[in-house]
This record gives sequence, C-alpha cells and structure tokens, in this order.
Amino acid sequence: MDWFWWVLILFWSGGFAWAADNVRTALRHRHERKMEVLEAAKQERLALEASHKTPEPVCGCTHHLAKHDKQGRCHERVEVPTAWDENKKPVRYEAGACNCQQYVGPQPLSQVYADELTDLA
Ligand SMILES: [Zn+2]
Ligand SMILES: [Zn+2]
Repeated sequence: MDWFWWVLILFWSGGFAWAADNVRTALRHRHERKMEVLEAAKQERLALEASHKTPEPVCGCTHHLAKHDKQGRCHERVEVPTAWDENKKPVRYEAGACNCQQYVGPQPLSQVYADELTDLA
C-alpha cells in the first residue's frame, strides 16, 4: 500500500502549492485594489482642494483687481452705449473706461489685495 501514500503526498503538495498560489494572487489583487482606492481618495482630495481655492481677485465690476489702481479706479476698457432705440436698448457702443471705483469699505479680499504698509517715518 506504499504507492497510495506517495500519491496522496504528491496530491497534497500539489494542492498546497495551488492553494498558496491562489492566496498570493488574491493578496496581489487586494493590494492593487487598495492602491486604486488610495488613488481615488487622492483624486477626491485634489478636487476638494481645488474647490476650496481662494477665489479669483475679481472686482464687482467683473474686472480683475489688477486692472484697478491704488485709488480703486478701474482702468479696463469697456463698451459704453451711446445710442438707444425706443425700447431703451443700446444700439451703438463707444469704447470707454470702466467707471468702477471699487469697493472702499472694509476689504473682504484683504488676503488677496493688501495695501502696502504706509511708511510712517
Ligand atoms: Zn472694479
Ligand atoms: Zn471695471
């Protein structure tokens, strides 16, 4: 009956190798899956950061704050209506300067627009 044991041992070791291989594959897949989850979390975090980014320093006149001088006057060129039809709809435009004086109250945008410190000396 010796041959029976040999067959059994061969079968076992083969089976074990097969099982070990399966476990290895499963572990690798789990690792890949974990990396995918991590990657997805990273993308989500980046999207979140992008949405929390400081807003563009744009004035109420829709022009960038960089277009305004220290007094707050906007220097952006705009189209100024010069003629209107009977429905008060502008029909002709002329190039003109934006009349914006910028917001002069407390500055909610102080973190993006900061006046230079006055030299007191
Ligand atoms: Zn403005
Ligand atoms: Zn403007």
